[in-house]
Amino acid sequence: MQHPQARIDLHVHSTASDGVLSPSEVVCLALEQGLTAIALTDHDTVSGVAEALDAAAGTTLEVIPGVEINSEGEWGDLHFLGYYVDCRNGALNERLQVVRDARLGRAYAMVKRLGELGLPLEWEHVRALASGESVGRPHVARALLERGYVQTLQEAFDRYIGNDGPAYVPRLRLSPPEVIAAIVDSGGVPVLAHPAYSGAAVVARIPEFVAHGLRGLEVYYPGHTPEEIEALLRLCRQFGLLATGGSDFHGPGHGEGAYLGSVEVPADCLDGLRVAACRR
Ligand code: AMP
Ligand code: FE
Ligand code: FE
Ligand code: ZN
Repeated sequence: MQHPQARIDLHVHSTASDGVLSPSEVVCLALEQGLTAIALTDHDTVSGVAEALDAAAGTTLEVIPGVEINSEGEWGDLHFLGYYVDCRNGALNERLQVVRDARLGRAYAMVKRLGELGLPLEWEHVRALASGESVGRPHVARALLERGYVQTLQEAFDRYIGNDGPAYVPRLRLSPPEVIAAIVDSGGVPVLAHPAYSGAAVVARIPEFVAHGLRGLEVYYPGHTPEEIEALLRLCRQFGLLATGGSDFHGPGHGEGAYLGSVEVPADCLDGLRVAACRR
């Protein structure tokens, strides 16, 4: 299919989780950037989607309801994107609520650990920085920055709360089959996020994930090399998976991901997702 004007970004965060811009600000920026479609994929919540849909109504921008859910286990730290999930689905929201409740306890544990390391933070401060539903390490990092313990958000991760940091506390994560089921059961299309960052071992597990309902791989992503993109496209062909892509934009000046719309994603990626969502 030809899409001469189409420009899409299928991996975007907002203040509903650890992004910097509100869902409507993200929509405005997407329009300014000349994008034709974005998927809002906040961590463990779909609470930003309604605001984004409202903000985009009557404009040239299409907003695809989405979510990013992490999993953990012998597979390592794998993230799954769910496209076209039904945001009102009770079972999905209940599952996400359990994960978010655990995020809260885990953030509290990190604050406690930081206090033991001589970096006391006020819990209310962290809570206020996480204005949305989903509390994450970037909020703790911002509290450390605002208290003057670090000079940049990156320093907070590098010194204290990165995966190997002294104040890191792991969070509750579902297993990959549970995450895939949560997405599929709510009418969504599950896609493995940024596979090139998930380690070579994940490739061996793809057939298993496909058997559970995985439908795609996030092929186009900041930092994915042409060779990695080619290898991922080969895997898509081998397993009959869709290719998707996006920037993982978290906001201007935020360390993770790239700028909104800055990753080139072929527009027919969206056609494949739409068809997959229809066939559910
Ligand atoms: P959480 O889901 O609470 O564990 O936080 C994960 C988020 O923290 C990611 O989505 C990134 O936004 C950010 N993050 C994780 N590791 C790093 C890192 N090493 N440097 C900068 N940001 C990071
Ligand atoms: Fe994030
Ligand atoms: Fe991710
Ligand atoms: Zn993301």
